[in-house]
Order: sequence, then C-alpha cells, then structure tokens
Amino acid sequence: MEPILVLLHTTDEGALPKAALETLAVAQTLGTYHLAVLGANAAAAAQSVSAGALSVRAIEGDAVAVSRYATDAVAAQALATASGATVILAPCTLRFQRALPGVAARLNGACDTHVVAVDPDLSIHRWYYRQRMEATQSRTARPWFVLIEPGAADPCAAQPGAAAEVLPCAVETRTEVIGYQSPNADQQTIRPDAQLLFVAGAGWTKKQKDGQTHTDEAGSLILNFVQHNKTSLGSSKSLVDLSGEGQAVLPFLTHLHQVGQTGSTPRHRKGLSTCCHGEEPHVVGWRFINERRAINLDAACGWARGKADVLYVADAFEVMRELAKLL
Ligand SMILES: Cc1cc2nc3c(=O)[nH]c(=O)nc-3n(C[C@H](O)[C@H](O)[C@H](O)COP(=O)(O)OP(=O)(O)OC[C@H]3O[C@@H](n4cnc5c(N)ncnc54)[C@H](O)[C@@H]3O)c2cc1C
Repeated sequence: MEPILVLLHTTDEGALPKAALETLAVAQTLGTYHLAVLGANAAAAAQSVSAGALSVRAIEGDAVAVSRYATDAVAAQALATASGATVILAPCTLRFQRALPGVAARLNGACDTHVVAVDPDLSIHRWYYRQRMEATQSRTARPWFVLIEPGAADPCAAQPGAAAEVLPCAVETRTEVIGYQSPNADQQTIRPDAQLLFVAGAGWTKKQKDGQTHTDEAGSLILNFVQHNKTSLGSSKSLVDLSGEGQAVLPFLTHLHQVGQTGSTPRHRKGLSTCCHGEEPHVVGWRFINERRAINLDAACGWARGKADVLYVADAFEVMRELAKLL
C-alpha cells in the first residue's frame, strides 16, 4: 500500500469541520495513514483525531490562522513533504480547493477535486457533466492530492491519540486577510442543505386571469415562503433569462438559481415546482429530488406526465397566498 496522508484544516474557530471527519472516514477504509492538520489550534485538533495514525503533524500560528492561498500552500507543502506520502487525501472545502491544486503543481504532482469515493486499489470516483456521468479513474502522477467531496461519506467518530509534532512555517505574504463579506442570511436563497427545493417558473411573470402581470406580488409570495421555511430557491431557465430580455422579472433570481440541463442538479429531499411547465431540459435537474410536487394551471403540463408525484392543478398565486396564511 502506498503511504497515505490525511491532510486537514481547522476552521477559524480552531475546530475540525465535519468534512475533515468524513475524509478521515474514507482514509480508514484504505488502511494505515499519516495525519497532518493546519490552521488555528491545529495541534490540539490533530490530537483529537489521531488514534491509529502512523505520524501526526501540525502547523499552527498566525500565518495559517485564516484561509489564504500563499500561507496555506506553503504549510500544506511542508506537511505533505514531511509525511513522505505519495497520496494525500484532503476535504474538498473552499480553503483546500484554493490551495492544494497549486501545491500539487509545485510538487510536480496531480490533484483531483470533488472525489466521492476511493477504492482500496486507489481508484477514485467522481461525477462529470453536471452529475450525469460517474467516472472511475486512477493516476500515476505522484504526489496525488485527492479532495473528498463534503457529504460523500459518513463522518467517523473522533478518537484522540498521540500528540502532534508541530512544524514551523515561516512565509512572507503580501496578502492581508481583513474579514469576510457574505450576503445576509435573508438574502441567501440557495441553500444546499435545505430539505425542500422551491422552484419558480416563468408563469409567475405571465399575464394572469385578470389580464395583468403581478410580478411584485409574485416576488413577495416566493421570498416570503422561501425565507420563512428556509427552503432553497431554484428557477426555470425561462424565468432567469427574462431579465436579459428586459422584461419585468424577480430581481432576486440569478442564473445561479437555474435548475436543469444547463443549470444545476441540486440534492434535496423534496421539491415543489410552481408556475413551471416541467419540460425535460428543466426536469433533468431534478434527478436527485426524491419527492416531487408541482402547481400548474395546466393539467397537461410536463409534470403531469410522470415527472411529479403530485400535481396540483391550481393557480399558484392562490395556493401560495393560502400557504402564507397557514404558515
Ligand atoms: C438545450 C436546452 C437546454 C435547456 N436547459 C434548461 C435548464 O437548464 N433549465 C430550465 O429550466 N430550462 C431549460 N431549457 C428550457 C426548457 O426547455 C423550457 O423552455 C423552460 O424550462 C420553460 O420554463 P418555464 O416552465 O418556467 O416557462 P413556461 O414554459 O413559459 O411555462 C410557464 C408555466 O407556468 C404556468 N402558469 C402560469 N401562470 C400560472 C399560475 N398562476 N399558477 C400556476 N401555473 C401557472 C403555465 O401553465 C406554464 O405551464 C433548455 C432548453 C434547451 C433547448
């Protein structure tokens, strides 16, 4: 068996993220491994999961206390080299997605991201073409950085063990991290962890039975439902494309919300489609949604043709108004 390193990082608060324990769980199915952690409080974090590791190393201190390419790359390279490992398993977090491909290049190795499984013969599994094709592949280039997709494995239980050897990390950087900028929780409408996906279709912006459009009301009904229930918001292509054509649209929707063949393929337990016809290029984006319901005025829409478990033939404005009262 090739020497394997499990390379983890801590959060800014000095804890190991769930994705770290998932990567460790994948390594435990492969045999023995070395362990290394970088980031705030890395030595203590490493010891908290080091049972069974062949060696335990850490790099901590101000330089790696926050995510920054220049410092993370130097620290990761030092830890990978010190372990002597040829295969490095690491969580596919934003922090490592940014830093580790560069480390692989510096070491003349290779890096694969979004890996969902690793076989005992070190073949990796990953999806391509928006999760429509799963490939099994291996590489001869070494060192090989394999970044495990969060959620692809169950996390292992943390088992403390030997203390970590703390390596020094001196690195000059011109980049100063001054903080994070993220949208308010209320502005965030794409929620990959939500139980329910709420999809808005172009019908919300079409003339209704009074011959008028009601885009403002549509916007508040949708946002109210999504924010109140903390569901994730998706859209059909037609609806997000309307903004490009200068029509009245729902201002909080972007192409990032688009679900379907040329959009995303989100994973949620349930989905509710509203004012969306349910055409095939849209519905292929629902392949990982288990329970599907749709509201459409048209009893012969695409959802009625075996694409939804339940189709409510109804006016989505009326249904959502009633729902808003009930919730
Ligand atoms: C190569 C290719 C790739 C594509 N990729 C995608 C993709 O990734 N994602 C995607 O979504 N589409 C994609 N499309 C487009 C797709 O085929 C459809 O054109 C699109 O999904 C239609 O969007 P829609 O159902 O929201 O709008 P429409 O077809 O306009 O349907 C609106 C629906 O709203 C209903 N409605 C109107 N008012 C109400 C009301 N008050 N209550 C209830 N229902 C109401 C109507 O009955 C109608 O069914 C792609 C097309 C092609 C050719």
